Amino acid sequence: MSMLITGISELSTCDDGQEERAATSEEAALTRGLGVVRDAAVVLGGGGEDSAPVVEWIGPAEQAPAADWAIDLGGKAVLPGFVDSHAHLVFAGDRSAEFAARMTGQPYDGGGIAVTMAATREAGDAELRDLLARRVAEMRSQGTTTVEIKSGYGLDVEHEVRALRLAREVTPETTFLGAHVVPPDRREDGGREAYLDLVCGEMLAACAPYARWIDVFCEPASAHAFDGEESRRVLEAGRDAGLELRVHGNQLSHGPGVRLAVELGAASVDHCTFLADEDVDALVGSDTVATLLPGVEFSTRQPYPDARQLLDAGVDVALATDCNPGTCHSSSMPLMIALAVREMGMTPAEAVRAATVGGARALRRDDVGRIRVGRRADLAVVDAPSVLHIPYRVGVPIVRALEV
Ligand SMILES: [Zn+2]
Repeated sequence: MSMLITGISELSTCDDGQEERAATSEEAALTRGLGVVRDAAVVLGGGGEDSAPVVEWIGPAEQAPAADWAIDLGGKAVLPGFVDSHAHLVFAGDRSAEFAARMTGQPYDGGGIAVTMAATREAGDAELRDLLARRVAEMRSQGTTTVEIKSGYGLDVEHEVRALRLAREVTPETTFLGAHVVPPDRREDGGREAYLDLVCGEMLAACAPYARWIDVFCEPASAHAFDGEESRRVLEAGRDAGLELRVHGNQLSHGPGVRLAVELGAASVDHCTFLADEDVDALVGSDTVATLLPGVEFSTRQPYPDARQLLDAGVDVALATDCNPGTCHSSSMPLMIALAVREMGMTPAEAVRAATVGGARALRRDDVGRIRVGRRADLAVVDAPSVLHIPYRVGVPIVRALEV
């Protein structure tokens, strides 16, 4: 069966191979780099019981071939579904009181990650599965069609394995983050070293079958996260177990995370809020994407990362939500695009690329994040004539995954 989609005022393929067809030079300048076809049509086909539909044809609507079915979007923009390459979705409970206190300057120690760890361990499988399904659906309703999901709130063997097992039910992009922090119940003398032994030994062995990636919170400025040498140990153990590498780095300070990620060939280093020139130099020409998470800076009232410096240096940049209960409980990629444009000096086109093909690169995927003939048909639709409306109409739910 094939389906013809017409009424696409602006098709952003985010594909470097797509010849741009813009009506005027002003439009072309504002969406340059998005591989735009105006007044476009797309034909989808393939896709049986267990395989996603694929893109069979892209081009101007007046040249579209016939298909078995047709839908007319009536003048909307279409782009690749967002690729949210950094999210922590397996948790129970919330920390809204901690957020409110932080925003209003109230002295309040909400207990931080200990609260989430306890609530997550206590929750049954059915409850966690339901919470996870709701969060993935919430993302889809805002245009996200690919999501990476980390463990990191179980922090013992049983509950880390469970988090990854449940995450694997909804995405192939699962990440073992036993090295999120040293858990609150293991911070006695010698507990740190023993916990690292556990993460790199029994926990890793039990989690690896359910994970594609391993990640570590490399942040010497935090007493409970991990320094450069500890992070190296975790990443190398993960690599030896067959996992690919990602790093939380340089969120709170000028730490070693970025350079370690590049040295070890990690797919992505995420946060990049505090960057020295040597960090940017290391990223240039590397295989490591700099993934920026502006929802965290918004929700913690920290300075935003210098996206302009990275882009001007030629670094591959991705945008992701970091959706988590502590530092950014938002699943909205359109909000991340708006923050990147408003607060980080990215153009709308750069931000849309970072949220689609940039996220795909951060996950080393070439089948998502762009619209290309022969690839998966993961499409998002904007209830407006152009992707420029995504940051422009901030806070308005105008983007959703296109259900076909
Ligand atoms: Zn994170």
